[in-house]
Amino acid sequence: MTTTTKTKLQTIDAQHHIHPFTDSGDLVKKGTRVIERAEGVYLYDSEGNKILDGMAGLWCVNIGYGRQELIDAATEQMQQLPYYNSFFQCTTPPTIELAELLSELAPDHLNHVFFTGSGSESNDTMLRLARHYWACKGKPNKQVIIARKNAYHGSTVAGASLSGMTVMHKQGALPIAGIEHINQPYWFGEGFDEDPNEFGLRVARELEEKILELGEDNVAAFIAEPVQGAGGVVIPPESYWPEIQRICDQYEILLVSDEVICGFGRTGKWFGCDYFGTKPDLMPIAKGISSGYLPIGGVLISDEVAETLKNSGDEFYHGFTYSGHPTAAAVATANIKVLRDEGIVERVDQEIAPYFSEKLQQLASHPIVGEVRTLGLLAAIELMQDKEQHLFFEDKGAVGTRCRDISVTNGLVMRGVGSTMVMSPPLVITKEEIDLLYERVLKTLDDTAAEFL
Ligand code: PMP
Repeated sequence: MTTTTKTKLQTIDAQHHIHPFTDSGDLVKKGTRVIERAEGVYLYDSEGNKILDGMAGLWCVNIGYGRQELIDAATEQMQQLPYYNSFFQCTTPPTIELAELLSELAPDHLNHVFFTGSGSESNDTMLRLARHYWACKGKPNKQVIIARKNAYHGSTVAGASLSGMTVMHKQGALPIAGIEHINQPYWFGEGFDEDPNEFGLRVARELEEKILELGEDNVAAFIAEPVQGAGGVVIPPESYWPEIQRICDQYEILLVSDEVICGFGRTGKWFGCDYFGTKPDLMPIAKGISSGYLPIGGVLISDEVAETLKNSGDEFYHGFTYSGHPTAAAVATANIKVLRDEGIVERVDQEIAPYFSEKLQQLASHPIVGEVRTLGLLAAIELMQDKEQHLFFEDKGAVGTRCRDISVTNGLVMRGVGSTMVMSPPLVITKEEIDLLYERVLKTLDDTAAEFL
């Protein structure tokens, strides 16, 4: 692309496009980066830079860019039937095929799916479904959903309300009624003085305290990400999830595992709940289901919840124009078959994630790094002012944003969450590409340290 074309595109973008999660005035001053194409784990921008995508887009391009199988699936389905809906007693063949495939992959007790167009819609669906389920069971007061501080569950009204990010709540009078937040299991940032497992138990038991405070007859569900992604790749201590499961079972609260990031191989298992051994009643999914090639999501539903719906004699007044979209479903099915038939998830588990972890742990001794944590192909690097004193930078956002920008200059997309640098590369990344990623992270940390330490 010529410089004139690029500048022209940037100008038009500034004139007509409001970007998500962006300070629009600031963006106009800085200008946008135009990503033109991508292949495998690499992005190519309009300046001719080849950038290693350490974030798999937005935690979603699990399969990497440019897979012909998905392109063919979309083309064929568009020729056959680009769109039809699943309302009014209708369905389409690719929608059915995907529903069956998901039931095969998901834990044994999850054999139904409600389709959506995104992760946010999946969480809105989850909220309405959980409340409706309890009403069908004759317990209409079980309405409250307990979520966690610093969680991310989406940007729709329910999604943002379930999210535990105070900056989001400040805009638009959120959260909506009937949502409560408890602390997150962020040991490095909030429990460093305690034994990790004791800390894990303590924060898990906040769920029990909250249920007792509200009364179990008023609580519908607890929602959490197996590993909190957008909040900074918060990996809970081992003690955490078993205790959460015990509490949900004891008080008859639905357990909702938000698998929008962790689903489809990110942890080295098909779902985060497989990794942690939990038994969720509902599982919002999106992103990796189609590797982001087309927008699609859903909620996986337990047999108990599905049977209750089927026997309720009532309609569930909820659905989207694009619920079960045939072209998106065909692409998702093609994506899942590639992940399955090429053994990509098993390869992550046995070979790639251990290598990724071993390499990145070498960065733990870097002067600006307080901790490196990884799980599957998720990683967090904590930047610190003084690691001996466990002292974070005063302006965490400033150092994280600068580090992110330096990283892109060094040819790697890494994301800053406060001063936690996070990564989530495509699952198809090779060991050689991990070596390159490592070199670029190291250079980025050196450059950041030179500016901030
Ligand atoms: N849940 C989780 C755990 C997420 O990470 C996200 C997106 N980052 C969402 C829900 C919302 O998904 P979407 O952006 O597709 O609406």
